[in-house]
Amino acid sequence: MDERSELHAPARARGRLRVLYTAEEIRARTARLADEIRPYYEGKNPLLLGVLKGSFIFLADLARALAIPLEVDFVQLASYGDGTESSGFVRFIHDVERPMAGRHVLVVEDIVDTGTTLAFLLGTLASRQAASVRVVSLLDKPGRRVNQVQVDFAGFTVENLFVVGYGMDHAEAYRHLPDICALEEV
Ligand code: 5GP
Ligand code: MG
Repeated sequence: MDERSELHAPARARGRLRVLYTAEEIRARTARLADEIRPYYEGKNPLLLGVLKGSFIFLADLARALAIPLEVDFVQLASYGDGTESSGFVRFIHDVERPMAGRHVLVVEDIVDTGTTLAFLLGTLASRQAASVRVVSLLDKPGRRVNQVQVDFAGFTVENLFVVGYGMDHAEAYRHLPDICALEEV
């Protein structure tokens, strides 16, 4: 068994994971995204604002692919309720500590689904006098949108699937998987 199949083994044994994007495809897409994003931020020392926890691996790879001076901070948000559907009510678990006034902020999301979480975050950022606010999301599910939020840069567009891996979880499992996988039979 090679290293990768071992990482997937517990779920594969139950036949639940299907690879959508391999680690190599993610790397290549992230490099192209970085080329698209970089011109907006060269010389501006942008603040990459990661939304925990799902974006932590994407942010780490995107920051290195951008390869320009930048800063990193995180917020953690939670929607009340559980399961694979967000409830529509969002709150901060962790907010940034440093002021954002005058900063060029790039929100880094793992996935924009209904748009509820991002709408809440962008709403709160609006009062903080950032010089600019843009959004990059590794995955975009436009077919599920309830709140019409703008995703300025999107890695991959997916259908109405529940995805895990590359930072994204189901009940805190699967974040370590190097590929983005669809979790079936949930
Ligand atoms: P939204 O508020 O746009 O409906 O969803 C926001 C958050 O729900 C995402 O940032 C992500 O953390 C989580 N989410 C939405 N769809 C998925 C999915 O397919 N897989 C995982 N693991 N999380 C998801
Ligand atoms: Mg998220």
